[in-house]
Amino acid sequence: MSTFSLPALPVATLGTPRIGPRRELKLALESFWSGKSDETALLETSAALRAANWARQKALGVTIIPSNDFSLYDQVLDTSAMVGAIPAIYGWKGGPVSLDAYFAMARGSQGETERHTSCGHAHHDHDHSHGAPAQEMTKWFDTNYHYMVPEFATGQRFELSSLKAVDEYREARALGYETRPVLLGPVTYLKLGKSKDATLNPLSLLGELLPVYIDVLRRLAANGAEWVQIDEPCLVLDLDAAAREALRRSYATIAHALPPLKIMLTTYFGGLGDNLDTALSLPVAGLHLDLIRAPRQLDDVLAKAPQGLVLSLGVIDGRNIWRADLPALLDRLEPVVAKRGTDHVQIASSCSLLHTPIDLELEPDLDPDLKTWLSFSIQKMGELATLGRALSAGRASVRDALAASGQAATARKASPKVHDAAVAARIAAVTAGMADRKSAFAARAKIQRPRFNLPAFPTTTIGSFPQTAEVRKARSAHAKGALSDADYEQFLREETKRTIRWQEEIGLDVLVHGEFERNDMVQYFGEQLAGFAFTKHGWVQSYGSRCVRPPILFGDVSRPTPMTVGWWTYSQSLTTKPMKGMLTGPVTILNWSFVRDDIPRSAACRQIALAIRDEVADLEKAGARMIQIDEAALREGLPLRKGEWKGYLDWAVGSFRLCASGVSDETQVHTHMCYSEFNDIIDAIGAMDADVISIETSRSKMELLDAFRTYKYPNEIGPGVYDIHSPRVPEVGEMTDLLGLARQRLADGQLWINPDCGLKTRKWEEVRPALVNMVEAARAIRAAAR
Ligand code: GLN
Ligand code: ZN
Repeated sequence: MSTFSLPALPVATLGTPRIGPRRELKLALESFWSGKSDETALLETSAALRAANWARQKALGVTIIPSNDFSLYDQVLDTSAMVGAIPAIYGWKGGPVSLDAYFAMARGSQGETERHTSCGHAHHDHDHSHGAPAQEMTKWFDTNYHYMVPEFATGQRFELSSLKAVDEYREARALGYETRPVLLGPVTYLKLGKSKDATLNPLSLLGELLPVYIDVLRRLAANGAEWVQIDEPCLVLDLDAAAREALRRSYATIAHALPPLKIMLTTYFGGLGDNLDTALSLPVAGLHLDLIRAPRQLDDVLAKAPQGLVLSLGVIDGRNIWRADLPALLDRLEPVVAKRGTDHVQIASSCSLLHTPIDLELEPDLDPDLKTWLSFSIQKMGELATLGRALSAGRASVRDALAASGQAATARKASPKVHDAAVAARIAAVTAGMADRKSAFAARAKIQRPRFNLPAFPTTTIGSFPQTAEVRKARSAHAKGALSDADYEQFLREETKRTIRWQEEIGLDVLVHGEFERNDMVQYFGEQLAGFAFTKHGWVQSYGSRCVRPPILFGDVSRPTPMTVGWWTYSQSLTTKPMKGMLTGPVTILNWSFVRDDIPRSAACRQIALAIRDEVADLEKAGARMIQIDEAALREGLPLRKGEWKGYLDWAVGSFRLCASGVSDETQVHTHMCYSEFNDIIDAIGAMDADVISIETSRSKMELLDAFRTYKYPNEIGPGVYDIHSPRVPEVGEMTDLLGLARQRLADGQLWINPDCGLKTRKWEEVRPALVNMVEAARAIRAAAR
């Protein structure tokens, strides 16, 4: 490596995972919440994690190191604490926000308000019998990270209430690290917020908010910060004139108040598109672009960006786990650096590394070839540093690292572990007709109805029954080798049998086996499909202390052997009532995994669809008359820009139809989706052409049924009448009321009666009376409709 001090090209991470390589933060938080350790212990662990993050980046050669990217829970909640947007129920009286108040906003004031994430989105339980409920939580853009939704009141005032950003900058400085503090930008922050007062437009609060930002920025500058990173990912969304004006006003006000402070304005998760001119008009020193999601925007930006603007090029994928092809990247980057100069270009991760697992070196069991193709957050820091050196000191200065990177890319492209000729042949042989059932729904229904002879308003459940402590204990004992395969199997059979008996006893019409053998609705299938790999420590923060370990979809997908037929056959053998086969759909498997980047998502989805189609065929062959294919994550895969929705929905619905349409007309295909806001995609849902769909509706009081005012949903449908996200047991009357609303929009012959999602997160004590009431409600409706 060159020892001359050539002008080094700065390299940046926009943020790092906070949870710690061994989930140290999770353990510290949970120990603190349970009262096992005190505030001091929690703060010490946090400080140690930050110090380790800074030290690691420095050692690996990251030159622009962020601070204030750490959070005890969530960076949006941190921003609410910073500006004092703390609803009155949390009892905050001004002044610095205490940890108690902070965690009350995060989790409710009675400790953990229980949450449910089986649907990929996390809900709070809404049993607020005592204490203040936690703030609402929702997905951060199109990631699986959840933020705490800011809540604004009429007459909202803001005041500086947390100096975290300044404190962490100073903390880094004291340790010898010059950092670039990160703030969530004022416009994105306001746009993420909500108000109970429907007339309050959060953007109208901008004038109130900006002085707090300016105060924080002044303090940062006074403490020595030269640059600040301000995140405005809203710039990749469809923005109206008011939002654009808010951006112009914000940055003009900030620039006016703090002329010497340099702002790196970051955009990520997409391209600037029609917001490009707005972004380029802002008086900031630097602009960060996500060149993973939107590589082509670079040309537009280069053509228009003023010469003095520092461009931060996000070329290392912050949303996925693939190692970059560094020589190929350099081919693209060298001309840019030559044109703009090393002092006007920075190289960065596409977004914060928060969304990637931490360290590949913790995975000794991964396939060694696969491992050479992967890069987790720590490896990505190294890749950034290599790029920076190559771009300032020349490729020869990092020859070996570049060679290794290029070789890995070449090997991956050609590897038989990735490319399966049999899969390619099957994909090539797919015909349009394979995505169509033989007959249209009306004709299928005519065959299915006499076959099943179900009562009007048939009752069913969504699939899972409570995953009790015993179930989880048995699973982990089995995983550790403490419980034999045979004993575990026996345990699961007993559990399943008991659940089936009980469903018969209370009089449900269509049964499920309970899914006790499944750890997770995606992992269970991923583990049995070719093309997927799993990590041991590849945790990614989902919300607060909760982490998920997404499967890695690395190669062509196929299904070597049946996955669920054994359990279905056993379960159906125990009852004469119809037992639903239970599968997870291709779109959901795709959306909850890290997906290969060498083929389009649509192509990967189609492969999964063919694998699930095989399972559907085998279930039918084994005698299953009803097969449910869950697409819990179909809606959350919608692109951030509305203009891209149709393209996505076309292939997503196409994949579902491909996996579901291989059966004969007499087989009834069910699907399930757990979200209530799908008024805007209701025709796509109709186009899936499932014979029966169950959906979430109870929490929104059947609001979703508004969709059916204009769109005549053609097939059968079970709008969830029992809100499983709450421990509360619904009364018969509540459910008949909800059904009454449903009957105003849908024909009696279309309606099924079911809970709004699986029951795995509930306790048997809650489930039992609730389902007994649900069956009672069905009887009442039948009597009334007669
Ligand atoms: N069949 C799954 C279950 O009942 C569906 C879960 C989901 O939609 N998230 O748990
Ligand atoms: Zn669901």
